[in-house]
Amino acid sequence: MTRAFNFSAGPATLPESVLRKAQEEMLEWNGAGASIVEMSHRGPEFMAVAAQAEADLRRLIGIPDDYAVLFLAGGATTQQALLALNFAQPGQTVDYVLTGHWGKTAIRQVAPYVNVNIAASSEANGFHDIPARDAWQLSDDAAYVHITANETIHGVEFHDTPDVGKVPLFADFSSSIASEPLDVGKYGLIYAGAQKNLGPVGVSVLIVRRDLLERSGQPRADIFDYRSHVARDSMLNTPPTWNWYLAGLVFQWMLAEGGVEEFARRNAAKAALVYGAIDGSGGFYRNQVVPAARSRMNIPFFLPDDTLNARFVSESKAAGLLALKGHAAVGGIRASLYNALPVEGAQALVAFMADFQQRHG
Ligand code: PMP
Repeated sequence: MTRAFNFSAGPATLPESVLRKAQEEMLEWNGAGASIVEMSHRGPEFMAVAAQAEADLRRLIGIPDDYAVLFLAGGATTQQALLALNFAQPGQTVDYVLTGHWGKTAIRQVAPYVNVNIAASSEANGFHDIPARDAWQLSDDAAYVHITANETIHGVEFHDTPDVGKVPLFADFSSSIASEPLDVGKYGLIYAGAQKNLGPVGVSVLIVRRDLLERSGQPRADIFDYRSHVARDSMLNTPPTWNWYLAGLVFQWMLAEGGVEEFARRNAAKAALVYGAIDGSGGFYRNQVVPAARSRMNIPFFLPDDTLNARFVSESKAAGLLALKGHAAVGGIRASLYNALPVEGAQALVAFMADFQQRHG
């Protein structure tokens, strides 16, 4: 068996040791006579797995007690819609800072319910930058300010938490959560689909300051109400048990490897290798994002023409480097360098890039 280096943007590569552990426990979990996927979510076995996963995530990210943690079915897109239902009154203004594709998606999800003010946008320059904070046009009465911490397609990342005053800051951390230390206390709410840094697709993590849950929001069904999920420890209905379990194994792995400080170091090293290869290629490879806003997680880049882009994708795949094709919205190439992609993967990619340029440049 050969596991290739997998640069997929999500669902993304998982640590081999986690997959092996899951494989080992697939038929029978911990002497229980059944797989964890075959057990009731309300039984003591799964309850223990769930509680451990939450405790480990709290330790890993440093989540204060005045924040609730939810493990929810429905992807990040579902959470995007639920933000308006839970935290803004009908027609109330919400501020969105638009720095790429996923910010647009987030706005689309809330537009039916609230008045969206796009406080700042980098769309006019092709989403290659983060608008300067002093140019943001925030509303005085916004229910919250929303940012996308890392834009997975455009490869643009906030490297500082913006100060937005008293209005709570909500952030989509789908593609950068747990990749470096994070000051949760600066945010009102953080959400992330698991399928990049945290585990398998099918579960989302939501971290919310408890006092915000008192807001009335919009009329909504119980199942769309975060308060109900908090009251029932994310077990209002049957949760995605397998995904939650597997995410728990990823949290254990991250803690054992040295936690977010260690991943910050590794992720910076991987990103430096790939940006170094792009910037040192004499223009053969191009990344259009301004250096201060470049993502450490997702690096989109372009070769001189589409024939070469396509060739790069097919030859890299043959060389054991998977999923380097760029997202259809922007084309070109994209290398995703999440926590579970080892430094050796980035080294193999830059060696391939140099070789490819020599043959086709
Ligand atoms: N936000 C970001 C930053 C993403 O990268 C993605 C998925 N790639 C989403 C939201 C949407 O996530 P989901 O498919 O889980 O709804």
